[in-house]
Amino acid sequence: MPEQKQVRVRFAPSPTGSFHIGNARTALFNYLFARHEDGTFVLRIEDTDAERSSGEFEAEILAGLTWLGLHWDEGPDSGGPYAPYRQSERRTSYEEYARRLLAKGQAYFCYCTEEELEAQKQDLASRGESPRYSGRCRNLTEAERAKFQREGRSAVLRFQVPEREVSFKDLIRGKISFDMALVGDFSIAKVALNRPTALQSGGQATRATESLEFSPLYNFSVVVDDFEMRISHVIRGEDHISNTPKQLLLQEALGFSCPEYAHLPLILGPDRSKLSSRHGATSLKAYREDGFLAGAMLNILAFLGWNPGGTREMLSLEELIKEFSLARVHKAGAVFNANRLEWLNAQYLRALAPEALLECAVPFLVSAGLLQPADGGYRIVKTGEQMSDSYLQAVLRLEQGRMKKLSEIAALTEFFFVDVPDYDANLLPWKGRGKEDTREALEAVGAVIEAVPAEDFTVGRLSEGLLAVAAERGDRGIVLWPLRVALTGREASPDPIEIAAILGKDKTAKRLQAAITKLRD
Ligand code: GLU
Repeated sequence: MPEQKQVRVRFAPSPTGSFHIGNARTALFNYLFARHEDGTFVLRIEDTDAERSSGEFEAEILAGLTWLGLHWDEGPDSGGPYAPYRQSERRTSYEEYARRLLAKGQAYFCYCTEEELEAQKQDLASRGESPRYSGRCRNLTEAERAKFQREGRSAVLRFQVPEREVSFKDLIRGKISFDMALVGDFSIAKVALNRPTALQSGGQATRATESLEFSPLYNFSVVVDDFEMRISHVIRGEDHISNTPKQLLLQEALGFSCPEYAHLPLILGPDRSKLSSRHGATSLKAYREDGFLAGAMLNILAFLGWNPGGTREMLSLEELIKEFSLARVHKAGAVFNANRLEWLNAQYLRALAPEALLECAVPFLVSAGLLQPADGGYRIVKTGEQMSDSYLQAVLRLEQGRMKKLSEIAALTEFFFVDVPDYDANLLPWKGRGKEDTREALEAVGAVIEAVPAEDFTVGRLSEGLLAVAAERGDRGIVLWPLRVALTGREASPDPIEIAAILGKDKTAKRLQAAITKLRD
């Protein structure tokens, strides 16, 4: 029996921009596959483009993966048997393999300028051929090479592409073939030539050997790293399909074994064009900061091109691992539906235990300027009053079923974090009722509040008294409407009796009194 290959996959982002939904989906599918197969999940940072890469973007990727709970087994921070895991720290490997290709005549220096390359492409296109590299520098003589160098031209190293078909079996899309004659020799590294220099040492002139500095390009560094890191399966976005035959040829030239390939479907916006910022936020961080929970995000990402069959739509990470298989990944583009994410997030928010809700919602109240941390708990910014966890939990629970995302919590609960809400007295009277009637009703409400003891200020006790007052007047609106306005300053809110029960006797009485005073003016 052939030996089962140990599964090792990598997520290989370039830290050249915000960590976006598409990359997070690639990371998740790699992670799920690795865990399902008892394999290894490697994080490799592809930062060979020094100008566009930044440590800040790298940190954002690590933070995003950690938030989603996708822990990597080997990576730039944690190390591992094939360290380093940052391409900028692996240049010696690339140089060694590039020299091998040069020595075997499978790579060559190309000195064509941008303008020359463009002219070659135009010329091929005008003859109805594919606009590729013409191969002009394939067979330069030493003298020609030296002349270009004297002219101070910079060079790239090109891989000599055999003019034949290259096919591979994609685990999601089946057999894919490319006619490499149409592709032409592609560049695998930029080369800076360090000219021989005369060094003075101990009065003796020493000639330093000519050295070449390789700055590897994407296809080349990926092939070297996938080999050196023993990657068994390359799972990545469909936009990389056309890179795969180039990588296969490089592997063949270098005598490397080939990993298996699986290309994930494109992520689309609701109009079925490629997902972009035109469709709304695309960075994971933006969703996190807007108050989406990792559980909801994981599910929306997992369903971008995959589903477990059946009707389940909220799976834990453990369940996703158990159910995941590449065989169920679709070929067709997957639509990212922000409305569905909101719906899903609302379900996850609703399911949070009071302590967990407190933990994730409080930072949003703090950043909205309603609360501030104080003495191991929280203080209301406007009143300076210290809040107990149980009070905050009760406030949050009241709105738990109404929120689609945590960033909505401040606007929904703001009236709890003031001394007395601010509103126009004309808002107090119920439909068709005057200020006098309203004041009289609120005074009756005041009497009920007065009669309920502070330690038993519950929805049950309050309802009993308040509904009796309403019954006497033959209209609930005349009682509950001005009570709502007095407590919240708003026309719409949760049940005012529930709000009163959370505020407690003193605060409720104070707000009521403020309303009665407004009606007297
Ligand atoms: N660094 C590449 C990217 O961010 C991915 C490379 C790969 O998966 O082969 O698109």
